Amino acid sequence: MTVLGGGPAGSAAAKLLAQWGHSVRLITRAATDPRLAVSIPPSCHKLFDAIGVSDAIDRAGFVRTTGNTVWWGQPEPRVEMFEEGAQGWQASTQVLEDALLVEAAAAGVSIERRLLGEADLQPREGAFLIDATGRSGLFARAKGLRTYGEGPRTVALGASWARPDRWPVPDDTHTLIESYDSGWAWSVPTSLHARHIAVMVDPQRSGLVRGAPARDVYLAEIAKATAFRALVQQATCVDGPWGWDASSYRADRYAADGWLLAGDAGSFIDPLSSAGVKKALASAWLAAVAVHTSLARPAMRPHALAFFSQREHEIEQHYSRMSRLFLAEAAPTHPHAFWRDRSDSPAAPAAVDAAAVRAAFEQLRAAPGIRLSPGDARIEQRPCVRGHEIVLEPGLVTGDESIRFVSGIDVVALRALGPRFSQVPDLFEAYCRAHGDVPLPDFLLALATAVAQRWLVVQ
Ligand SMILES: Cc1cc2nc3c(=O)[nH]c(=O)nc-3n(C[C@H](O)[C@H](O)[C@H](O)COP(=O)(O)OP(=O)(O)OC[C@H]3O[C@@H](n4cnc5c(N)ncnc54)[C@H](O)[C@@H]3O)c2cc1C
Repeated sequence: MTVLGGGPAGSAAAKLLAQWGHSVRLITRAATDPRLAVSIPPSCHKLFDAIGVSDAIDRAGFVRTTGNTVWWGQPEPRVEMFEEGAQGWQASTQVLEDALLVEAAAAGVSIERRLLGEADLQPREGAFLIDATGRSGLFARAKGLRTYGEGPRTVALGASWARPDRWPVPDDTHTLIESYDSGWAWSVPTSLHARHIAVMVDPQRSGLVRGAPARDVYLAEIAKATAFRALVQQATCVDGPWGWDASSYRADRYAADGWLLAGDAGSFIDPLSSAGVKKALASAWLAAVAVHTSLARPAMRPHALAFFSQREHEIEQHYSRMSRLFLAEAAPTHPHAFWRDRSDSPAAPAAVDAAAVRAAFEQLRAAPGIRLSPGDARIEQRPCVRGHEIVLEPGLVTGDESIRFVSGIDVVALRALGPRFSQVPDLFEAYCRAHGDVPLPDFLLALATAVAQRWLVVQ
């Protein structure tokens, strides 16, 4: 099979498929983008482990960070630490890409370094083509699968800065984020003395589309951000600025017979989330599982591809909702069209209503005992991931959605056990006996969700 693009998504998908015994060709251009630095959250370590690249990531020597420092709709810094002991990575995308490609080659992937052309976009008979060309989205665009939202476009202008001594911030390993009137600024350290500093601006309102010089716009925007203005005062801009289209998009479909869109080729989420690399790796892992399943068990092919497509859609929707909420948080402080344009359309509703879950939890807590009966949802065979394959297992179906696990708790099993107990602690014990120990908070969240969603009804 062929993987187009050798960024995090392409190299991870190719490596996994080669490891699982498939013959994989990866084509990517020689010159990669050396200029971008990204912040990767600590939770990505599970994906690095699953893809088998944790040691390579350690060897790459990225700055490790303990959190973020943000000025988000407020003049005072808010220092947000990751959980106890957790550390994220501040990575140059080029170093990350090179490290992952070395791992893919070591797993047996045949790598061709060249510019992709139209001839590469035809899936071969009986073989799979994975488009992992990032925002270029060569196959996705050629097939008309990409959709930009109706909202405004965003351009990132970024440059490398250096200073001889430490940076004047509470923690110089941190990602820095500041909202200001006509945009937001963001900075990632690439060493203790060097930082990538970017501003996210509206190409129309900033004058970029009318030909305003990028460097003038960039420096003028930084000057509007109080904390970033102070940050660069004693620093030197050593390279850049460069520009990236940072507008969000999604795909109408993420897979069909013979092709899949992995990572940014399928959807691009607001860089505000700092989750692009994590999303790309998760997408690559699931794309590899879907392709492996399709080849190993041809009867499962339609289920596997539909499952991948649906999951990619849900993930894009989740991040787009989170970004909108985050943008809306700073908007009231900045009476500027940049913020109005990005926060006035309501966020799509969450799949599960948090208030309803809390109310269900309070109901369970207040009751001296519980009497539960199975609610509205049907149980049907639905696709889910087991090991490296997508299989069909019973899932709860409500409307078009099907679900098996909430916070790691098997809600099909919970729905079967629930009616047999009148006390929550007894139900919890019975669940752990049958399915292994699980954390009580996860169990309570799953139970409250089951009640809120009426998978279980309180009598
Ligand atoms: C301004 C900005 C800030 C960001 N900040 C963060 C952050 O802090 N944290 C985070 O996690 N993510 C961040 N991201 C997102 C992150 O960079 C991407 O989500 C991630 O790199 C996606 O990986 P990918 O493999 O899908 O695509 P890419 O990394 O884009 O890889 C695509 C690959 O395809 C190759 N390719 C493309 N076109 C061709 C062609 N015509 N011929 C041959 N090869 C081709 C490229 O060379 C590259 O190897 C940011 C993005 C931007 C633009």
